[in-house]
Amino acid sequence: MKIGVLGSGQLGRMLALSAYPLGHQMFFLASSEEKPSSLLGNTFIHNGNQEIIEDFTNNFDVITYESENTDISIVKEISQKTMVYPSAKSLYITQHRGREKSLFDKLNIPCAPYHMVNNLSELKIAVEKIGLPAILKTATDGYDGKGQFVIQSNSQLDQAWKSMSGAESILEGFVNFSRELSLVAVRGLDNSHEYYPLVENSHHNGILRLTVAPAKNISPKLQQQAEFYMRSLLDEMNHVGVLTIELFQTENKLVVNEMAPRVHNSGHWTIEGARTSQFENHIRAITETPLGDTTFTHKYSAMINIIGEHGPIEKALTLKNAHLHLYNKTERKGRKLGHITITDNTLDDLNNSLETLSDFMP
Ligand code: AMP
Repeated sequence: MKIGVLGSGQLGRMLALSAYPLGHQMFFLASSEEKPSSLLGNTFIHNGNQEIIEDFTNNFDVITYESENTDISIVKEISQKTMVYPSAKSLYITQHRGREKSLFDKLNIPCAPYHMVNNLSELKIAVEKIGLPAILKTATDGYDGKGQFVIQSNSQLDQAWKSMSGAESILEGFVNFSRELSLVAVRGLDNSHEYYPLVENSHHNGILRLTVAPAKNISPKLQQQAEFYMRSLLDEMNHVGVLTIELFQTENKLVVNEMAPRVHNSGHWTIEGARTSQFENHIRAITETPLGDTTFTHKYSAMINIIGEHGPIEKALTLKNAHLHLYNKTERKGRKLGHITITDNTLDDLNNSLETLSDFMP
């Protein structure tokens, strides 16, 4: 099939790397030529020109996107002629934190208490309702912890609201979690579902640095609980493709933070760590082919992000159970340049590998 991707970053690149063995052709809609995916398929440069969108719409069998910040008007327009998966409904909900949270409420999925905020006086009302500490976040366009302000005291309200630059925002109660988890799953058009195990994520300055799969000490009950939440979200949105939910664990409970209608950084370990990667499963889902097995190739996996500078990548190349993935990006502070996947059969081996690669961790 001819698959069009709205976007051309590393997620599009890795989708292409898993689509070619299945016989598909990939095309990208990008804002400039120099993007991680540009060598992996014809790239249409979108400079606001309507004809480019029409060209893109008319030439492919199915369209997908790699970010929840994708322009929904383009998705709606394309959907009139060509199938887009996940659909505009999934995109509409997941690109706005308030809409996401109302869906969690509707489906009885636990999440932090929240209140929408459009100005300083609404922020004051929200703080009275929710209490402090709390986090103020922009309702849209936030990623990697950007557009967020942790409010500890009432004296910070002015400063917090100013930092939102007037954007519609959401105040969330601060969750005292013990760790951060995520669940990646995929749903096919025929309503088939596959789930990867819960994984544990460590962040630094709001950016994911390390994922360990599976997360340690997860009871079958907790995994089932996460899958139950995931399934209700997938079905409610009639979602086709991969969906990721990010969760906080508090003692033995799960609190859902947010979701993404796409393959996710915390699922990159699946490239070598699972029988079918999240990328391949997304491609399988949107091309209406059977989903692949999500079980482990090894007992343990980990994924280390390479951020800002490439660092001693020979270490990853010489470690026998490690795989290096670079995204063809230039170095820049805080930028995701690539990742390393590690697969091992014992925890000791996994920990030794992580120690060898500790230069990549903050
Ligand atoms: P987000 O952009 O929502 O993923 O938030 C970025 C990071 O901020 C998360 O990975 C958490 O570490 C932290 N965070 C976000 N929301 C909350 C919350 N309600 N309570 C505590 N920490 C949070």
